[in-house]
Amino acid sequence: MKEILLANETFGMAAEQFDRTAEFLELNESVRERCKWPKRMLSFSLPVHMDDGRTEVFFGHRVQHHLSRGPVKGGIRYHPSVEIGEVAALAMWMNWKCALMKLPYGGAKGGIACNPREMSLGEQERLTRRFAQELLPFIGEDIDIPAPDVGTNAQTMAWIVDTASTQAGRFTPGVVTGKPLELQGSAGRTQATGHGVAFTATRALSRLGVKTNNASAVVQGFGNVGSYAAETLMFDGVKVKGVSDVSGAIWNDNGLDICGLRQHVMKTGSVVGFDNSEAIDPQEMMIQKVDVLAPCAMERAISKVMAEKLQCRVLAEGANGPTTPEADAIIEERGDIFLIPDVMCNAGGVTVSYFEWVQNLQRFSWTEREVISKLETLMAATFDRLVAFAEARKCGHRVAALALGIKEVADVKKTRGLYP
Ligand code: NAD
Repeated sequence: MKEILLANETFGMAAEQFDRTAEFLELNESVRERCKWPKRMLSFSLPVHMDDGRTEVFFGHRVQHHLSRGPVKGGIRYHPSVEIGEVAALAMWMNWKCALMKLPYGGAKGGIACNPREMSLGEQERLTRRFAQELLPFIGEDIDIPAPDVGTNAQTMAWIVDTASTQAGRFTPGVVTGKPLELQGSAGRTQATGHGVAFTATRALSRLGVKTNNASAVVQGFGNVGSYAAETLMFDGVKVKGVSDVSGAIWNDNGLDICGLRQHVMKTGSVVGFDNSEAIDPQEMMIQKVDVLAPCAMERAISKVMAEKLQCRVLAEGANGPTTPEADAIIEERGDIFLIPDVMCNAGGVTVSYFEWVQNLQRFSWTEREVISKLETLMAATFDRLVAFAEARKCGHRVAALALGIKEVADVKKTRGLYP
């Protein structure tokens, strides 16, 4: 099984980051092994009636990295590249992220290899309900609480709640987070990840002595994370000069109107062709001279070659794993880029998911202002702790963030002991 996981590029990346950090922490071999490998890996075949009368079999996975610190938490991804190794890598990162943020969770992730862009809403609903049905014995508010990720959204979560509630014979909103508000979702959850990306980016700018009104940014990806990161940066006074999605990239040197861009994407399905913007090569966009570069799309977007050419001052990793280990090494050696690693930068999503879960358990709801204020308090404290740790231990921000998370988990493992 270890070989199958390590054959996946993204898992290899997560494992390499883990090994490097375990070495830094001087973790003993037995704790190291227990922390590195996932606790449970589940795979399901999912037959679905398609609109043209065919029955198509999809494959879905759920990986629960550790259950030592509480129930597990992590998104569900619908994308053609989904495979068990990638899901396991994302679950491992979720594990360190929850521990870094001191949330009472382990990490998990799920996904189905499919292309939702080519499926009707009815096909997506049937696929989701079938996946939910298979997952039901393994998820729940005390075991594993899924949420949206790439290719899924609040509607996907609503179908899971409905399937779970129908089976249970009662309304069970706590089974997932990232739900619509009318199903006891949390105010502020939709924009939470992007808001957190912008919040940590502006905190980094302030450490570098750059005023947001004089700052510029580029955002890769205009889905849930990228669109709200771009919008919040714009509201903070930052000129968002470049934005891309899977179809292409656009540029305006005076700053793009992100609210208008959102309308354009809703109408046309892509950022391409937006008024008051010119087309730019998506790779070229990434290496323009701006203050903040926020990759908010997929893994391994920043290669070694690109890392050498980057001209940003802050690299805010909205996506999970957007920087390859080779690129990471270059960025660390260069020393002129303030890295906000993914487990810190995009932790706003799981943090507000945690608030949603707490509200569900208590049958109580907070206002958006309360939620965002609690989010900012937690993110600011963790950001400052991370930077202080990196300064004190003279290490890069990636190692600092992972070390804080991994140490938290390793300590729990040591204290609980090994059964039997
Ligand atoms: P999404 O499906 O809403 O959006 C993804 C966006 O990326 C789309 O605009 C898509 O067109 C774009 N994209 C895909 N391939 C691209 C490419 N090669 N170049 C440029 N753009 C490309 O997904 P999301 O929820 O915004 O997630 C994005 C990233 O953030 C993922 O890595 C995800 O794991 C991570 N993340 C998401 C959340 C969340 O709450 N949704 C939380 C934490 C981390």
